[in-house]
Amino acid sequence: MMRILLATDGSPHALRAAAFVARLVRETRGVELILVNVGHVPAVALGGPGAGAMVDFGVLEEGLERAGQEILNNTLRELAGIDADIAKEYRRGDPGGQILEAAKAKDVDLIVMGCRGLGQFGGLILGSVSERVLHGAHMPVLIVR
Ligand code: ATP
Ligand code: MG
Repeated sequence: MMRILLATDGSPHALRAAAFVARLVRETRGVELILVNVGHVPAVALGGPGAGAMVDFGVLEEGLERAGQEILNNTLRELAGIDADIAKEYRRGDPGGQILEAAKAKDVDLIVMGCRGLGQFGGLILGSVSERVLHGAHMPVLIVR
């Protein structure tokens, strides 16, 4: 059984990665697919004077989780009709670190992700999350361009 982790932030890049996984799964028997989204509190909300007073972390985290579940469902839609055992996993924290943790915990054979995400700096070849995962992973990583 081939186990694949698909990391998604709901960006067009991540959905392209999902479309590639769909194709891969169509050609492969017995795939177990784990969709992972990581909700993270931007550093700007954590640091700085008065940040703690301005941000209600309970509300923030609930919102992040709701958004994360929606991203996972949108990505699932991209995978409609494929014959795989699909699980969704929402995590909280540093996206790269959490994707690596999930990959290790589930002992996946492959991590699939987009080259870029929702970030604003479109000029880079690789976003910081995909770079971090590529650096830290002990299993194959497929970056979809
Ligand atoms: P940066 O975040 O460094 O500003 P970016 O947003 O363009 O740049 P990344 O965040 O590295 O680029 O996104 C690359 C890929 O990593 C995405 O296509 C997606 O597959 C995965 N990814 C990014 N963020 C998350 C997240 N929060 N949860 C799950 N997967 C993610
Ligand atoms: Mg990003």
